[in-house]
Amino acid sequence: MATDFQVAARKIASVNPATGETLRELECASELEVHESVTRARAIQPAWFELGVRRRIAVLKKFQRLLQEQKSGVAKLITREVGKPYVESLSTEVIVALDAARFLIENAFRLLKDEPLRHGNLTMKTKAGCLLREPYGVIGIISPWNYPFSIPAIETLAALAAGNAVVIKPSEFTSLIVLQLASLLQQAGVPKDVLQVVVGDGPTGSALVNSPVDKLVFTGSVPTGKRIAQAAAARLLPVLLELGGKDPMLVLEDANVDVASSGAVWGAFVNAGQTCLSVERCYVQRNLYQPFLEACVQKTKQLRVGNGMNPETDIGPMIHERQLHIVESQVEDAKARGARVLTGGSRLPELGPNFYAPTILADVTHDMRIMREETFGPVLPIMPYETEQQAIQLANDSEYGLAASIWTRDSSRGEALARRINAGAVQVNDTVSSFGISEAPHGGVKSSGIGRTHGRFGLEEMVRFKYVDSDRLPGMKRLWWYRYGASFTHQMEGILDLQFARGAGRKLQGALRSFGLFWSSKKL
Ligand code: NAD
Repeated sequence: MATDFQVAARKIASVNPATGETLRELECASELEVHESVTRARAIQPAWFELGVRRRIAVLKKFQRLLQEQKSGVAKLITREVGKPYVESLSTEVIVALDAARFLIENAFRLLKDEPLRHGNLTMKTKAGCLLREPYGVIGIISPWNYPFSIPAIETLAALAAGNAVVIKPSEFTSLIVLQLASLLQQAGVPKDVLQVVVGDGPTGSALVNSPVDKLVFTGSVPTGKRIAQAAAARLLPVLLELGGKDPMLVLEDANVDVASSGAVWGAFVNAGQTCLSVERCYVQRNLYQPFLEACVQKTKQLRVGNGMNPETDIGPMIHERQLHIVESQVEDAKARGARVLTGGSRLPELGPNFYAPTILADVTHDMRIMREETFGPVLPIMPYETEQQAIQLANDSEYGLAASIWTRDSSRGEALARRINAGAVQVNDTVSSFGISEAPHGGVKSSGIGRTHGRFGLEEMVRFKYVDSDRLPGMKRLWWYRYGASFTHQMEGILDLQFARGAGRKLQGALRSFGLFWSSKKL
């Protein structure tokens, strides 16, 4: 049936970035299909909610078991679709989803329980309050390609546990792995309409934003996030935005150079640098600058770039030409402004179309794009600093604020400095790994986004709070109702003094003045 909603069917292809092989072609869901999916999800969501938390948790347990059993197949599919080494598909994707399920299995019942609300206002003492956590209804999830399994899995599991239905729009580059996630959840017992995948590109995502979802959870770039926030504002659609980062790494003068340089190299190059939390800028105290540079270069030269299916591979390909081009142009800009390339700095065409050599840049400055814009590629720019104050200023001199890391032998000093960095998370003596801690909230400040995923805070993003208040003396008129008058005013002043005046004497006077309030028979 042709309607105003319908657009011509567009196709997208899932391609292995290491080989260029097309894995599958898929048709983009039309606007009408997206709306129909949301309508079906809305119709079935109440039944999913009525099932109760314990039965939904039982489904998550089954999903966890299935994923554990099928971990190799899932990890291989991730590697084929996005290129990262197979071991990284296990260590940064599958394990994260398994642990997110573990967190919900252990905690969702407790965290979603109705919560009696104690209160302190004397005049309200006859009231019993309770907080309910109710599902939004249908949650729309739009996900990126860089962690194509763990990101939508974390968000979907939390949304489902809370009793929502979910419609996911995966990245156009990684549809297959999200279809696999949905298949595992459906095998575990999630009804088909409770979790649906609408494959497609940007316009398909836009159709989901404009569909009648009740909340939109978006992970992706800042420009797309801003577009989504604008569209959502028009109808006050709540949005959770997990956006880009430009995470700084601060190496203090007392850091262990061997450990910190290994951390920098891994943190900058994991998933070929295409990690929202990757080390995008490194600041090293001047006394350590030279030895730190040498250690990073020596370690980077030992990294093996290639197809992620080869167990000896450390770094896989980048996702596509457009991403390579961004990296290349930022490196060229840095070189033109005086940066030195210590290793790497070019494509590796002999390996395939999407490979870029892990690159170390020295003598970078904040005038260079490489220190200001998200690079999202295997580049580690390193800059010296003199004082701790300067290091903090440099770290905070960014439009982004996703995460940061501080490297020092003195953990207390690192933890104190962490408070001065504008970011959603700061790690002391490690980087990136906080994403693997299901209890730790994940999300940014400034342009890096709004809201949090993971753990308690991620679960609370999937519910609306409702306050239910029940008066325990239903036969009594409330003190503050009509009718007003001089004596009521006098008593009210007394109540205020009783609760808030300073000194026992004034409080006592207040109590005496307010006395009549509690058995006034003059209420209308
Ligand atoms: P992207 O913004 O290009 O695309 C993300 C998703 O949005 C895709 O599914 C895409 O199809 C969809 N989309 C594109 N245009 C849209 C529109 N107008 N309306 C609705 N949806 C639309 O981002 P990407 O290249 O897939 O991902 C990389 C970015 O994601 C990086 O900036 C990275 O830092 C960020 N990221 C952030 C986090 C985080 O947790 N903060 C995690 C991973 C990635």
